[in-house]
Amino acid sequence: MEMATVEGDGIIWNFHFRRNLFNWEQSDLDNLMAILQRVVFYDGDDTWKWRWSRSCRFTVRSMYKELFARSRDETREIQVFPVEVTWEKAIPPKVKMFIWTTILGRILTLDNLNRRGQHLNPMCVMCNSLDEGITHLLLHCSWSLRIWDAMLKPREEIYFDLFMVENLEWLIAWKPGPRTLGSKVWELLRYALIWTLWKRRNAGIFRQDNLSMRNTMNEVRATIWFWLSVWEGRNTYRYCDLLNHWEGIISGAWG
Ligand SMILES: [Zn+2]
Repeated sequence: MEMATVEGDGIIWNFHFRRNLFNWEQSDLDNLMAILQRVVFYDGDDTWKWRWSRSCRFTVRSMYKELFARSRDETREIQVFPVEVTWEKAIPPKVKMFIWTTILGRILTLDNLNRRGQHLNPMCVMCNSLDEGITHLLLHCSWSLRIWDAMLKPREEIYFDLFMVENLEWLIAWKPGPRTLGSKVWELLRYALIWTLWKRRNAGIFRQDNLSMRNTMNEVRATIWFWLSVWEGRNTYRYCDLLNHWEGIISGAWG
């Protein structure tokens, strides 16, 4: 069914929503209609264009600049997101994006989904005892805490810090790591652990996968090893070093 029909100089839009809109969605629809008023159809194939870069191609930089400019307009004060905590790290772009939205409190945990009008059981699938929110899921859930505890073991003071943390901005205050391999592994550990917890949570929800601590911890180590491939120094180590000497690497006693 056509979404739009051209009649004379105007366009009639037929959205065919599958349900009635909530009251709070009506203003969004009005805004959308105001934008669509300016739409003009041309003959030719449809293509995607990113409006905030000159090449019309998506770049993280252009999106960051645009969002930054908007937040400045709205709040009249400069809010600088700490770019070094995500964008400048040697981790894959999709993980940077994930960490960035996590720190901003916007990943789609059950509380955020329900706030957007879903009606989902808010219970955390990892512990089945408390409601799922970002800080709970990735830091304070009893299941996640066991992983943090096991992986941070030689640096217990960091683990105890976790209990006072109120949100993921905690990632920004991550302390430096020990020697060569240790500092590299330590630098990536927070990202790999949070990324893995998120993937495990999704596997639990969508595939009813069993959560095993051992597999999860090995996945964190494998992820770090994979991300370290951009570092030349990795050639002098083997993946099994991360398995066999984990605590030594983290404490700086090995590597
Ligand atoms: Zn939980």
